[in-house]
Amino acid sequence: MLDQASATTADLWARAERAIPGGVNSATRRIGRPLVIERARGAHVWDADGRRFIDYHAAFGATLLGHADPVVGEAVARTLVDQDLVGMGVSRLEIECAELVNAMIPSADKTILTMSGTESTFQAIRLARGVTGRDLIVKFQGCFHGWHDAVSRNVISTPEKAYGMDPTSSGILAPNLEATLIAEFNDLASVQELFARHKDRIAAVILEPIPHNIGALLPDQAFLEGLRALTEEEGALLIFDEVITGFRHAPGGYQEICGVMPDLTTYGKAMGNGFPVAGMSGRADLMDQFSSAGGSVLLAGTFNGGPASTAAAIATLTHLRTTDFHQRVFALGDRLRAGLAAITEDLGIEACVTGYGSVVICYFMPMRPKGYRDLLEHHDDKAYAEFHRRMYDHDILMLPMSLKRNHITGAHTAEDVDQTIDAARVVLTEMAHE
Ligand code: PMP
Repeated sequence: MLDQASATTADLWARAERAIPGGVNSATRRIGRPLVIERARGAHVWDADGRRFIDYHAAFGATLLGHADPVVGEAVARTLVDQDLVGMGVSRLEIECAELVNAMIPSADKTILTMSGTESTFQAIRLARGVTGRDLIVKFQGCFHGWHDAVSRNVISTPEKAYGMDPTSSGILAPNLEATLIAEFNDLASVQELFARHKDRIAAVILEPIPHNIGALLPDQAFLEGLRALTEEEGALLIFDEVITGFRHAPGGYQEICGVMPDLTTYGKAMGNGFPVAGMSGRADLMDQFSSAGGSVLLAGTFNGGPASTAAAIATLTHLRTTDFHQRVFALGDRLRAGLAAITEDLGIEACVTGYGSVVICYFMPMRPKGYRDLLEHHDDKAYAEFHRRMYDHDILMLPMSLKRNHITGAHTAEDVDQTIDAARVVLTEMAHE
């Protein structure tokens, strides 16, 4: 059931439901009440009734600089005066963008551009299988890498389905699910076990270095180093899916912070500040296995490296590389975390307020989770959903799905954060006294 909406929203929402399956173009955009967005600027979005929200959803983190960033918009507009899409050769923009990524991401020798994070992880996995000649991949319970079949097993599973064959979608063939093995994050032994059981068959281990699709499990350094050593020993590739962490946590992604170098890296989301651009980088000897360089792994895509998106990426990455952006959003992240932690502590709510830099999450559980098992056993999903639902009533837009994270952008201010903390105090006080 969806909550009541005003006449304007109700009318538009009814049209949406008639024209589009479920009224939305990505299933998680359906949030339990009609929502029609009319405008987005900076840290705010406005719905069809003119109601303004402070936005921590930030397009799942894609609008890292804030909505409608003027510098990015101008770069796109300028580019569109000269070119749209040609589809032969390469543009100066693509060269400049790849050079920029290669300079920023420590493990990147060469880079390809795609349209989405899903395409990037698809290409990384296919490349890993192509170069190793092996069939299996290892992913971690709770990590999300897009919607293609190789990574659709065991994303955010219910307790009954976790660690099993939870396919996320119908229409995925059993052999595809069986070719994806599931391990536990921060538990190197669970990965060692899979390598021992499937000798010489594992092509790659893929992970979000911080699994932000279940909030923010912070990785043990020894775990990441262990994965690097193990994959090397076993002849498998290590893929960091930095679709969320990439560029957001540091110009060089989380690998710059942890110092562990993967063979391949995927990114997307924040790369173009809301424009559809994503990418994949890696060692030159691996990247040269793409068919564009004469290798056997097909590289194709009509819109790959399209001028508007590529110009958006160059403008975004240049900003991230040349300003104090990370310092500013990290400080605001600390401010929000400290504010929320003080409230839950005052009220005696069992909560763990955590995150990393600009990413903030309040888990409703008594301790810091290390892996997915901790979340299954201890997290109060109902309290989380209720908190986020009520924050919406206070004009704060947060990701409504259980275990997702909240994002601070370059456009948020200390006032926005303080207003959010004030709203949280009201909401959590209500919840604590019911
Ligand atoms: N990898 C990660 C870590 C993601 O969070 C996502 C999207 N949530 C993807 C891949 C897929 O990206 P896209 O939605 O752009 O296809």
